[in-house]
Amino acid sequence: MSISAPLSHPSLVSRRLLGRVRDVMAGAGTAQQRLDKIVSIIAADMVAEVCSVYVLRAGEVLELFGTEGLKPEAVHNTRLRVGEGLIGIIAAQARPMALDDAQSHPNFAYRPETGEEAFHSLMGVPILRSGRVVGVIAVQNQTQRHYEEEEVETLQTVAMVLAELVVNGELISSDEMLLADGNALLPLRIEGVSLNSGIGVGTAVLHRPEFHITKLVAEDVGAEQERLRQAVSEMHGALDNMLEQSEIAGAGEHRDILESYRMIAKDAGWYARINEAISGGLTAEAAVQKIHNDIRARMSQITDPYLRERIHDLEDLAGRLLQHLVGSDGASKVDPKEGEISQGPLILIARNLGPAQLLDYDRTRLVGLVLEEGSATAHVSIVARALDIPVVGQVRGVLDKIQSGEPIIVDGENGQVFLRPGEEVCQSFIDSAEAGEQQKAAYVRFRDLPAETVDGERITLNMNAGLLIDLPHLHEMGADGVGLYRTEVPFMVRADFPDVDEQCQMYGRVLEQAAGKPVIFRSLDIGGDKVLPYWNKKNEENPAMGWRAIRVSLDRPMMLRHQLRALIRASAGKSLSVMFPMIAEVSEFEKARSLLQRELVREGEKGGILPVTISAGAMLEVPSLLFQLPQLLEMVDFLSVGSNDLFQFMYAMDRGNPLLSERYDMLSPPMLSLLHTLVGQCSGAGVPLSLCGELAGDPLGAMALIGAGFRNISVSPNAIGPIKALIRSLSVRELEFYMQTLYEQRQPSVRENLRSFARDHGVEA
Ligand code: PEP
Ligand code: MG
Repeated sequence: MSISAPLSHPSLVSRRLLGRVRDVMAGAGTAQQRLDKIVSIIAADMVAEVCSVYVLRAGEVLELFGTEGLKPEAVHNTRLRVGEGLIGIIAAQARPMALDDAQSHPNFAYRPETGEEAFHSLMGVPILRSGRVVGVIAVQNQTQRHYEEEEVETLQTVAMVLAELVVNGELISSDEMLLADGNALLPLRIEGVSLNSGIGVGTAVLHRPEFHITKLVAEDVGAEQERLRQAVSEMHGALDNMLEQSEIAGAGEHRDILESYRMIAKDAGWYARINEAISGGLTAEAAVQKIHNDIRARMSQITDPYLRERIHDLEDLAGRLLQHLVGSDGASKVDPKEGEISQGPLILIARNLGPAQLLDYDRTRLVGLVLEEGSATAHVSIVARALDIPVVGQVRGVLDKIQSGEPIIVDGENGQVFLRPGEEVCQSFIDSAEAGEQQKAAYVRFRDLPAETVDGERITLNMNAGLLIDLPHLHEMGADGVGLYRTEVPFMVRADFPDVDEQCQMYGRVLEQAAGKPVIFRSLDIGGDKVLPYWNKKNEENPAMGWRAIRVSLDRPMMLRHQLRALIRASAGKSLSVMFPMIAEVSEFEKARSLLQRELVREGEKGGILPVTISAGAMLEVPSLLFQLPQLLEMVDFLSVGSNDLFQFMYAMDRGNPLLSERYDMLSPPMLSLLHTLVGQCSGAGVPLSLCGELAGDPLGAMALIGAGFRNISVSPNAIGPIKALIRSLSVRELEFYMQTLYEQRQPSVRENLRSFARDHGVEA
């Protein structure tokens, strides 16, 4: 049986409780005394018999630091590893947990010294600071109590305040909070950056090429050169075979990358250098090793991401060539222990990898990849995405902290890895991976249903894309079209600037995969943080406000004209929609549009088939444009708000600066009232309006946009399912009415108001 505790209105409870917690924190007494007071206040306020706070200590250990209700002698004695018991799972997954019957949960870890056998229900939340778990706070009740969602939220809010006490160094020194680096046998959680989402649980395999070359010097230069020639031709054959594998043979950027890798393998300059080393008296393998070493030495000095990527390709090739030269006795490609891991899923750990190296491993067993380096645009990440392998990169020092054969979890959802996790942690990740798959499957049931609100308002739900591998989601998740195709993304993963024909093919493939659904192509938005490897990077003090996007395109008109020419040709006989990024004044749009017109005339004169319809729009990302709207609205066929940039420029807040990421909220009265006004202006002028920034992919953001009048939004592929579910649970009229009360508010954010609305009206936000 489950009963609910009698509570007054949750937000009142939370506010009252917060006030009291804050008073105690700022009051007199040692940190421990204040913590003791706080746990008893929380227990009383939340009508719980127990309230306990665990703090994360070095070595991923959670120590009971304060309790109301458990035996006092357990304080500073009860310790759990991250992942152990319910408290450990809450820390490992950084997610709250509320259980009516905690003791029947498979992860319940009974600690006799606490006396907790008397308590049946448990609700715990992580104490987070800057996205990192620093502890856990939990309440328990004797009865099988059902904790409401509001109560979980209250505890989360309290945990945020409490984080201050945990990290300010009074309770526990900051050194003690650090991970136990070097203590290799303890389970360890290391944070990195998610390069591909998904969860993988398996056994670690270290990719550490080691070659033992015994014969370094040779007399017969000709014979060594012949050995090299032979090995090179074998390697080419093997590479060709690998690239024909059915799984990766299809078109896509990953294919382009592998092709350019194959071209590097045929690079004459590289072989000339190896041959030169052979002429100097080295054996073929020693010559390759020498060039390999030179490459590694260069690696350490190069910071340019593109060059590093290319050098990885070369490093990978050198390793591959050595294998062909010395065979399996002289060189071992991976840690020898791999042979012992004869079954089960594998997780590959490497400093970095060339794109083809991933394909050396048994795809049926590979469930994750961990890189000490790596970035989202690294070639190996793109290939891994095409193969749906979760990847966490920038995991510093991981190769020194784990050995082949040890268990490991790759959590691509949260950008973290768990080394040597206990069985219970593995199981909980396996469960959550399965739940994730089920959730995806659950959203698929919306695929053929329209994005229509409960009161019959049809919302156009588009998808943002930039790589061909995004496009299958368009159909899988049932989006209406592509609201933003970021053309710069395919440019960023190539070795050189694509010419008109190559671009035409690229856009043609996008349209082909869209299979008749509308696509809005955005002209190149390069510059700022989007650097093309083959483009001379200018050092600018403020790249986001620098020479980027339409500014580059208008200063290099041939570049824009080639892009437009390719788009026109790719859309022959179809519809073409183009939008221009970072328009700051109407004359920029006018110039861009006249280049489009010129290209259309040119194509017509050359006898080409023209697109059947053409629409040209502007992105609204620069605030100055807001003050020229009447003029702009006369010229554009549509407008799309780039909320990421618009917000950063409105608030003078660098969108990539983590120090500012929580300072301002897009769901603020000024931002929302601006968007609401814009809807009115555009509809008055009969100009279609959409929004394609991240705001639309945040469920509360999407809800607010619809309430503000937007009927067209574009979101990232993984947000299509959740946002469609939200739309189908929403009643627009009530929301619009409610939002009228928010535009004039004084508080910095109305997120909580919107959250309450969603909760009270059964909106799936
Ligand atoms: C935006 O600024 O909101 C936008 C969609 O463009 P990008 O994120 O590519 O700058
Ligand atoms: Mg932008």
